Formats: sequence, C-alpha cells, structure tokens
Amino acid sequence: MASLVSHPDEVKVVTKRFGKGATSLDRYLELDGYKAVQKALGMQPDAVINEVKNSALRGRGGAGFNTGMKWSFVPKQSPKPKYVLCNGDESEPGTCKDRLILEHDPHSVIEGVMIAGLSVQAHVGYIYIRGEYRYLSEIMQKAIRDAYGRGFLGKNIFGSGYDFDVYWHGGAGAYEVGEESALMESLEGKRGIPRIRPPFPAVIGLWGGPTIINNVETLASVPHIILGGADWYAGLGPPKNGGTRLFCLSGHLNRPGVYELPLGYNLRKMIYDVGGGISNGRNLKAVVPGGSSTPVLTAEEIDVGMDFDSLAKAGSMLGSGGVVILDDTTCMVKFAQRIMKFYQHESCGWCIPCREGTDWLKKTLTRFHAGGGTKKDIDNIQYLAENMLGRTFCPLGDAAAMPTISIVKKFRKEFEDHLEGRPCPFEKAGAVRELPVMA
Ligand code: SF4
Repeated sequence: MASLVSHPDEVKVVTKRFGKGATSLDRYLELDGYKAVQKALGMQPDAVINEVKNSALRGRGGAGFNTGMKWSFVPKQSPKPKYVLCNGDESEPGTCKDRLILEHDPHSVIEGVMIAGLSVQAHVGYIYIRGEYRYLSEIMQKAIRDAYGRGFLGKNIFGSGYDFDVYWHGGAGAYEVGEESALMESLEGKRGIPRIRPPFPAVIGLWGGPTIINNVETLASVPHIILGGADWYAGLGPPKNGGTRLFCLSGHLNRPGVYELPLGYNLRKMIYDVGGGISNGRNLKAVVPGGSSTPVLTAEEIDVGMDFDSLAKAGSMLGSGGVVILDDTTCMVKFAQRIMKFYQHESCGWCIPCREGTDWLKKTLTRFHAGGGTKKDIDNIQYLAENMLGRTFCPLGDAAAMPTISIVKKFRKEFEDHLEGRPCPFEKAGAVRELPVMA
C-alpha cells in the first residue's frame, strides 16, 4: 500500500476521501458517495455532457482532450450497444496516481463510469486494471460487488428504471495496452496492439459499438463536477484547464509523493515548496514534467505553469502527471538509454519505425554510454528519433522519440563528454545517484 503525503497548497477534490475508509460503501455514502449519479439520473444526457464539457476537464491519461467534447462524439442512435471503458492500465514510468484512487476511493471510479454511461445512454461499463495492480483489482471487485448488493448497479439502479452493469477486467501487464484501441483489443481477448484509426472509439469501439474511454483519474473527477458544478471546477485552474491534477513527484527530492494541486501550479514551487527541494543538497539538472514520454525541461525552464497549454508552449507536455526530478549527479546519456530500453521492450513490434527505431536507439545509446560512441552517433541518435516522430501507428513511437530528441538537444555537451574512449564521466567520478523508488 502506498503511503499518503500532504501539503498546504493542495486542493483536495479527487483525493478528498483518501485515508477516510471510503473503500467501505457505507463510509463512501457518508462522504457524499453516489449522490452525483443520482443527480445525473435526473438530468438530460446532453446536460451531463455539457456540464463536463464546460468544466474544462481534460483527459488525465496523457492526451489532454476535453472530456465532455469526447463524450459528445458518441452518436445518439446506434444499432450496437454503447460502452464505457475505464482505462486503469497505468504504466507510464513516473506515474503512480491512478493506483491511489483505486486503492482509496474505488466507488468514485464506479460512479464516474456510471455518469459517463448515462451521458451517452450506455448500459455497460468496464474497469480495466493493469495486471501488476492485482491487489487493487481485489479492492475494485469488492466495491463492484457491494454496489450490486445495494441495488446501485444492475437492473433499475436507484429505482430509476435505468439498467447499468459494471465489470472489472485485469490486464496481463503490457504498457502498450494503455493506448485506448489496444486496450479494447485486449478486453476483447485479443493481442493488445492498436487499431488503425479512424474510426475512433466514440463511433466504433469495443465489440464494434460506440465507446467512451477515459482514464481512472478523469472518471473519478466526474462525480465532483456533477455535484460541485462546471463553473466551480473550471475555476480551479487556468482557462481551458479545469480542476486539479494528481502530480506524482519522484526522483531526487526531499518529499516525493502524490500531491493534488490545481492545474497551472508553478513547477518551481512544486519542486522546492511541495517536494521540499533537491535531496542531499544537490542542484537541479532536469525535470521530466509528465511521465517518461514527455520532453525534458532544464533547470532554467521550470518557471512554468503545470497545465496542458503552458507546458505545450514550453515545448513539453503535461502527459500523465509523472514529474521526475533529476539532480546534477544524473548522467543524461544513461537516462536516455534507460528510457529507450523501456520503450524498446514495450514496443509491440507492429510498425517498423518504432520496432527498429527503438532497438537501434537502445543499442546505440548503450554503446555510447559505455564509451564506444563517435561524434556521428550523436547526430544519428537525433536523426533516428526525429524520423520516428509522427510515423507510427500509435503514440508509443512518439513517446520514445520525444524525450530522446529533447535530451540530445538540451544536453549535447554530456554526449560529447562520453565520446570514444571516454566512459561516463559521472560514473568515473562515482557521483551517480540512482533514482529512489517511492514508498
Ligand atoms: Fe506497436 Fe510501436 Fe507501432 Fe505502437 S508505435 S503500434 S507500439 S510498433
């Protein structure tokens, strides 16, 4: 079980029931649980969609698309059943917040799935949880059973005449399945590789029916929006970036942990006030602002608001909220190599730029870090990564390319310091501190 942290600047919305025993259905009900879905049952489906759209809630899985807008793409009439799919395949390195929601407030996820279902008149929802989160799957299965036991799920929910079923599904442990179309393939019992799009899931999704797919944090935010109102939620963040976000602070920090802060919160404050600054009195070198697939920022680039638009302007992304802090003992060549090793391992192998590109990049970076690199390799690494960008079936190719390009551009000098015959200067000096693992 993950330990909880807190800071006075936090605005607790999604985390407000953490540590309060809300895995128990009775306790969840005492803490306003299942009130939002009952309110939504009394609303027109379009009104639910508009409320979520106007709240400026954007997808917390990484893409950052307006959630209500995504729901509005589901056709009103469909010859096939419609579905809601909750993406709990949290696997992005540096990201560990959905697991806290599933652990501390599973009913809020069920309630979010139900409200999403009402908004498009779907009658079935699935909650897909990554294989490595087996213990959380048990918590979720119990929550679903308890909700059925009280008549909150199944036939005639809350005596409304509306039927809604929710099923849990456990993944087999593949990063790639976090991509929404691969998730649907996996749920249908096939190999978890992406589908060619269009058509998009909102039109042809799970089992060929129109499907809403959202991340755990996104769906857990929805009941709060329905109860608190779109204006309140939108007002928590800057324009077009509504609400709060669970930021996962990790790396060389004094107080790593998952903190819920308003979108737009300044990154410098996040590192030095919330995270307590760099551990061991070292200096900051770089920040991964939104999970391993986002371009890195240098220590000079941290006066930026942590929201989708400000980070895009700064040349990076908010991604999945995984903020990894790297101090001045970090070898950026080694860091690039470790990231690439991960993506090479997780590539499904379907398309050539990703399958071959990640493999070549991993091999080149490994040789380079060991002191066997040449000056030409530096340009080749950059060239290879740039040629993967935008040329793959799914975003994994981009996820591997983007951090690599940014590291070579911003830390080229470190690559030059590793040239042929000169092994890693950081390891030579015995200075490297491995990134700590969060409790
Ligand atoms: Fe598979 Fe990579 Fe292509 Fe995605 S980009 S489909 S993971 S090979």
